[in-house]
Amino acid sequence: MTSDMKTILVTGGAGYIGSHAVLALKQAGYQVVILDNLVYGHRDLVETVLKTDLIEGSTLDKNLLKDIFSRYNISAVMHFSAYAYVGESVTNPSKYYENNVVGTLSLLDAMVEADIKNFVFSSTCATYGVPQAMPITEAHPQSPINPYGATKLMVERILIDYDKAYDFRSVCFRYFNAAGAHPNGLLGEDHNPETHLIPLVLQTALGKRESISIFGTDYPTPDGTCIRDYIHVCDLADAHILGLEYLLQGGQSAIFNLGNDSGFSVREVIDAAVRITQKTIPVVAVERRPGDPPALVGGSDRARSILGWNPQYADIDTILTHAWAWHQTRHS
Ligand code: UDP
Repeated sequence: MTSDMKTILVTGGAGYIGSHAVLALKQAGYQVVILDNLVYGHRDLVETVLKTDLIEGSTLDKNLLKDIFSRYNISAVMHFSAYAYVGESVTNPSKYYENNVVGTLSLLDAMVEADIKNFVFSSTCATYGVPQAMPITEAHPQSPINPYGATKLMVERILIDYDKAYDFRSVCFRYFNAAGAHPNGLLGEDHNPETHLIPLVLQTALGKRESISIFGTDYPTPDGTCIRDYIHVCDLADAHILGLEYLLQGGQSAIFNLGNDSGFSVREVIDAAVRITQKTIPVVAVERRPGDPPALVGGSDRARSILGWNPQYADIDTILTHAWAWHQTRHS
């Protein structure tokens, strides 16, 4: 390690988006320390692919945070760790408020105490709720319709107040639908349980599932299925590096949408998957899933103009091709 190498603490670095960000950070010349409770994160990934320090623990553990901040010379924190199952957040909100809000507050307070004031936060388009206008810009009113979105909005609110009170600088990224896998084939989406459309479609293509259920075919969209804005996980990771550098160069706190500004319906995603995989993918139309807005498409001009973000893999076929390569290497 050279002496001018900055060290970044990445919470949730053993998870899907966090692991891609860790690799991007390392490639950009940063030293990385991961804090992950390993409830959903993957230790083997850190040990075999990311090859970086892993501290197993919770952001709720104030003594642990204090210890990390005294042991390492941390320049900034990227905070990915959060529970992110929308359905579970409805049935078990306590788990979500405890980890996503109280845990984040604990982390922020430990940072303020240690005088570390640069923070990159994973927020979500779920903070907007049912959109009133499309594409959704950062100025769109925020009215989340589930506890998961509410926890993220609460943290955004806390960050505004911490900036005013403690000169604490943050970049909040409101992601649309993270998808795809690293083109190196070593990192990808591995949730357990899996609830997301693209991995479920690809698992069906592999014969691991009998069929893919389409949740609702009577939406007010051209083919009746929900439209989402899918954004490649490596493009998300790149945005995090740009957001970090913006903060390290003295940028003011800011909020950015991260999406491709274009939407694909569930049927279009499945059709693209058939094209890419060359497999039969049996489809079953079922009831709508509660809480799903008909369409969510972002407007991400701000990230492009202020951060110079330029997504490399905007094409849905590329997103699926990378995800497919990853899924074919999975044995579980
Ligand atoms: N979806 C679906 N079948 C599934 C999983 C998801 O039809 O088995 C739909 C879901 O209703 C939504 C879209 O696919 O319209 C994307 O869902 P996902 O859970 O991947 O992401 P979300 O938009 O909920 O963040």
